[in-house]
Amino acid sequence: MGDNNLLPIFLKLENESTLVVGGGNVAFQKIQQLLDSNSKITVVSPECNSEIMSLISENKIKWIQENYDSKFIDSPKVIIGATSDEQVNKAIYKDAHKLGIPVNIVDQPELCSFYLGAVHSEGDIKVAVSTNGKSPAVAKKIRNMIKQLLPKETASIVNELGKIRKSIQSSVSTYSERKQIFDSIVENQFSRLHGKVSLVGAGPGDPELISIRGAKAISNADVLVYDSLIHPDLLKLAPPNALLVFVGKRCGKHSTVQEHIEDIIITNSKKGRYVVRLKGGDPFVFGRGGEEAEALAKNNIQFEVIPGVSAGLGSAAYSGIPLTHRDYASGTIFITGHSAKDENAMDWNAIVKSKMTLVIYMGVKNATELSKRLIQNGMVDDMPVAIIEHATLPFQKIYESTLRELPNEITNSGVKAPAIIIIGQVVTLRGKFENYLQSPTYLNTIENPQFGEIPSIYKLK
Ligand code: SAH
Repeated sequence: MGDNNLLPIFLKLENESTLVVGGGNVAFQKIQQLLDSNSKITVVSPECNSEIMSLISENKIKWIQENYDSKFIDSPKVIIGATSDEQVNKAIYKDAHKLGIPVNIVDQPELCSFYLGAVHSEGDIKVAVSTNGKSPAVAKKIRNMIKQLLPKETASIVNELGKIRKSIQSSVSTYSERKQIFDSIVENQFSRLHGKVSLVGAGPGDPELISIRGAKAISNADVLVYDSLIHPDLLKLAPPNALLVFVGKRCGKHSTVQEHIEDIIITNSKKGRYVVRLKGGDPFVFGRGGEEAEALAKNNIQFEVIPGVSAGLGSAAYSGIPLTHRDYASGTIFITGHSAKDENAMDWNAIVKSKMTLVIYMGVKNATELSKRLIQNGMVDDMPVAIIEHATLPFQKIYESTLRELPNEITNSGVKAPAIIIIGQVVTLRGKFENYLQSPTYLNTIENPQFGEIPSIYKLK
């Protein structure tokens, strides 16, 4: 039995008679498979288990309450032997073989002229997997994998195509043209079926800051792709069988390149999976969410963006700094500290002139340049500054300083990333209500946040 030379065929057995010899559990399993074919099933066995008995009493199958005899196999189109008696099984095989009737003796490949595959059935689709009689367990596993891979809408696509098939057949004359038309319709239908992608903002740290919509997205995810600053409690919202993919820069030694992340999202989505890309803060604020959106669009993949509380907003709220105030600032500017490296990256003069509150992301490293450029462009050097480290988390720290002292403050207090720097008169306001501003309950209730520890993840290779 070295060669795999089985010919798969799908038999039409409706209203034809089929025969099962045996009345135990194994026979019952085969009867169940046969029931799908709508054939007229007869069971030959002196006794039957309760499940078979109930099928008999419901008139779904016929029962010949006798021992097997060759006289019972003159008419059936298919015979299944499921007795525990080897001699009987052999006799069934021989009799059937002589009459040219397809026969399957359960678990005895040498006494089979056909196998029943592991079947996945969905609408008009029927997938049957064979392992050439070697391992039904593996066949079942493969069947389940295929089942998972099929987009939910596959059966309805088949149905729709079934409806238009006749009219295309009659209106398009040549075979090759028809084939081309059908192929392109199918491609079209399936290309619309990519799993959805949600770019979800997780908020700055406190897991309770995620939106209800964001939480719902996670709880429906097939694949959750997340960064290093995502709180472990949010990962717990994912379904138990979801695939969690950590793509944070703190994973291992080398950082995961952006294309790699996009590739994971796109590949999984093309398999029809619902991918949730969970990003710190808001996806469209300094988070490369824009690049991911571009990549999705380029690949024809539908997506949604669920906003999150950006770190600048979280820092302001949890440290008591109103970013705008009628007396102090008529607006807020969000910038990245990276731009301080290059004098021409930004119109520093315009920023200073605007008199708006400045919220700086990723500014710790370049604080010296930042302070220098703002002062050079006319900002007063005693402008109040707040640095909020690990904002909205139980171990949030707030440092207050001035624009001149900012670089020293960072060095002396050992400020760690992630941190937000807020520059502007509004910083002084927090003094007014510091004693009244309550920490959100989360800050008080979590004793051991274990932030940074990733529970169950699949690391990238
Ligand atoms: N998309 C994110 C920003 C990503 S850039 C958002 O909207 O918030 C990463 C920067 O965000 C960090 O360098 C830091 O400046 C800021 N950040 C993120 N989480 C923070 C936190 N909990 N506290 C302070 N700053 C934070």
